[in-house]
Amino acid sequence: MYLKALEIQGFKSFPDKTVLNFGEDITAIVGPNGSGKSNISDAIRWVMGEQSVKGLRGAKMEDVIFGGTEKRSQVGFAQVTLVLDNTEHIFPTMEESEVSVTRRYYRSGESEYYINRQSVRLKDLTELFLDTGMGREGYSIIGQGKIDEILSAKSGERREIFEEAAGISKFRHRKEEAERKLERTEENLVRINDKIAELELQVEPLREQAEKARKYLVLRDELRLLEISVWLENLDALKAGARKLEADFHAAEAQRDEARAALDALYAEGERYSERMREKDMEAERVRTESAALEDRIKEKESAAAVLESTIAHNRENIQRAEAELAEAESRSGGLAKQAEEQEARVAEIDRRIGELNGALAALLETAQAMAEQAGGAQNEA
Ligand code: ATP
Repeated sequence: MYLKALEIQGFKSFPDKTVLNFGEDITAIVGPNGSGKSNISDAIRWVMGEQSVKGLRGAKMEDVIFGGTEKRSQVGFAQVTLVLDNTEHIFPTMEESEVSVTRRYYRSGESEYYINRQSVRLKDLTELFLDTGMGREGYSIIGQGKIDEILSAKSGERREIFEEAAGISKFRHRKEEAERKLERTEENLVRINDKIAELELQVEPLREQAEKARKYLVLRDELRLLEISVWLENLDALKAGARKLEADFHAAEAQRDEARAALDALYAEGERYSERMREKDMEAERVRTESAALEDRIKEKESAAAVLESTIAHNRENIQRAEAELAEAESRSGGLAKQAEEQEARVAEIDRRIGELNGALAALLETAQAMAEQAGGAQNEA
């Protein structure tokens, strides 16, 4: 086993980071009493997992952290890294040519372990050194008075040292672990037997409970069936209701469509009536205009008739005068008889003319009357 280097920081009398590189030959560290030589071997034992405070020459684990001096205050943690050569695969589980182990301890009591800067458990670190001759309980580090201790140690402890040296401590370790497991299993077995005894006491009440549970399950199944049939019945009723609602809905839709169509027809009819109203209004207006025109014509005819009547009256007066003159003339001259006849013929002609005019006037009045009635009828209809 070749130690390549040791890095100490905050450990015992090494507050600052101190790196010791070991050459391939023998390395000796010399110094006056109390200068810290043994602290270096303590650091090596500590980094390999030493748990015994006494073995580290302290009263408690915190004592490994630099505690301060008059000139320098204490530090918060101690850290030691040991670099080992592995070119000959002393650590069969590690492939690297160099293996570094690190241990860090804080004043809070927290410990951290690393192998090649990978965080590991203390167990991993202990197993790494098993059968390498460097175990924390091995004989590789022999401190002051240790040889005396080995010689005077009890045979069991001595055996452990030789086993470590012979490389069978791994198997002893495993055997111890297996024995511990066996003990734990036996303890578990005892606990299980106790539990069985306890459970046996509960068998009868549990059987009753199981019976009840079985009945409960049967009843629960029956209840479930009943519930299902009720649900199915409800479902049928709901389906029928839904079908009826659907039919009602369709009928309502049809009615709505019909009503819409009727409404559209009514709107169209209303539109037609409005159109007809407009036409009738126009017609009434036209009739009113025609009626006014007829009235004007009637008035014209009436005034024409009045003119004719006055002409007739005038002519009658003329006739009477003429008759008077005729009579006078007859009396004066019989030759005037022919003149009188002519005058009579003229009078007859004028009478005939008057008759014709009267007929035409009557026809006109009739037409006017008929048109006035027609206009009145059209106005009422509008
Ligand atoms: P010797 O030859 O007498 O055995 P040594 O050189 O091996 O002596 P160590 O016993 O390693 O010396 O070192 C003891 C020194 O370490 C003491 O001065 C002690 O005060 C110092 N020391 C130990 N623990 C701590 C600590 N936690 N903080 C500060 N100094 C410490």
